[in-house]
Amino acid sequence: MSDNLHRGPIQELKKDTIAAISTPFGESGIGIVRVSGELAEPIAKRIFKPKKDIKEYKSHQFYYGEIIDPNTNRMLDEVLIVIMRSPKTYTREDILEIHCHGGHLVLQKVLELVIKEGARLAEPGEFTKRAFLSGRIDLTQAEAVIDLIKAKTELGLNIASQQLRGLLKTELISLKERLVEHLSFIEASIDFPEEDIELPKLDEMKKDFLDILKRLDDLISSYHEGRIFKEGVSCAIVGKPNVGKSSLLNVLLKEDRAIVTPIPGTTRDTIEEVLNIFGIPVRLIDTAGLRKPKDSIEEEGIKRAKRKVSDADLILLIIDGSREIDENDLDIFNETRGKKKVIVINKKDLPMKVNLDDLKRRFEGESIVLISALKNWAIDELKEKIYNILVGKDIRIRADHLMIANLRHKISLERAKENIGNAVNCIETGLSLEFIAFEIRQALEALGEMVGETTTDEVLNRIFEQFCIGK
Ligand code: GDP
Repeated sequence: MSDNLHRGPIQELKKDTIAAISTPFGESGIGIVRVSGELAEPIAKRIFKPKKDIKEYKSHQFYYGEIIDPNTNRMLDEVLIVIMRSPKTYTREDILEIHCHGGHLVLQKVLELVIKEGARLAEPGEFTKRAFLSGRIDLTQAEAVIDLIKAKTELGLNIASQQLRGLLKTELISLKERLVEHLSFIEASIDFPEEDIELPKLDEMKKDFLDILKRLDDLISSYHEGRIFKEGVSCAIVGKPNVGKSSLLNVLLKEDRAIVTPIPGTTRDTIEEVLNIFGIPVRLIDTAGLRKPKDSIEEEGIKRAKRKVSDADLILLIIDGSREIDENDLDIFNETRGKKKVIVINKKDLPMKVNLDDLKRRFEGESIVLISALKNWAIDELKEKIYNILVGKDIRIRADHLMIANLRHKISLERAKENIGNAVNCIETGLSLEFIAFEIRQALEALGEMVGETTTDEVLNRIFEQFCIGK
């Protein structure tokens, strides 16, 4: 086992005091500089001048006054501050929050002053990391904080908040307790064979293992949906000119636009359009370039559009039902072969030139829906089809359904499952108790990793790097 393995909450925290602007960049009504650590209160006392004399600051109470640079006596802002004393705080350390006016320059100046007075700039996610290291939350809860911030639909938010409230943690702890009980029983009978210890009842143990396996399996299989609800999917609307692509896009966006923020790392200056299809964030891919090239520049554009289509998780292929199907429709269909798709026959309000039986034969096995983008007909039916194709079943996911949405969790659960499966095999093939104990220990290690009891620094760093600074 490597030396940098983190086992359980670390009590001796890093002693330096961290600070950051905790509100988004830009202008706003208020902006908050957050400070955590032993210097939080001393710094407050040095730079804050209350309007009324205060003998002693109460914890968790707002005070009104000014931030003044003690070196120059310059007033930086009129603020509200709150000191929250350890341990009832986010990080379990002393916390100071300075609620300034929201201009970025003001916040920057106040942050610089706090740093001049002895704090250091926090790393991304460091406040939450301290909450984890102090044992206030487990790793699944820390990860839920990121997901909560990044959630795009209400269902995504639900999965994250459920995880933040510790539902996943509770489930894991209960599974772990059951395993620990078996393990201690086995170990006792291995260690003290001469004592009169009742031998473990292997058939009962096997029954319990099978039940644990079922729980693990349920969680693992929820990853497929969980990931879709959390990350969303990309979707390309394709079809030849004038079939109604933009019309459909507008209808969908009018009703189901998801709330989104620009995705970091993308160079686009526009915000991506995201639909909310029964809780699934569906990112629309811009395929404006997907028409016949006039010149080499356009050809490059088309190549790029084609690549985007082939990367898409889902295709909506639009066909104009008031016209006969032609080579162009079939070319585009061939272009999207093997991809998850819904074939949308548009302009149902006009006399249909396409024959449904013929379509079903041509597009065998594909999901087909007739709509009118103009009249807003059968749009719900289209959304149902999209949902069913993505989730793979037509049950709506309930908000209280326990789901995982994190690859790290899935991998840990799969390891635990493998070990418990092996333990069942050991029982069935009559192997000695030592073998069963080994498998249980491995499974416990995997589950411990998931909640962060046994996690390498490298994994921790990777997790907290995904946060923004100030969280
Ligand atoms: P795009 O080129 O595929 O984006 O097609 P548009 O959305 O621009 O639509 C082309 C034309 O078809 C426009 O005149 C639309 O008003 C019309 N159109 C789109 N959807 C329908 C529909 O469901 N019924 C009818 N009758 N016309 C439609």
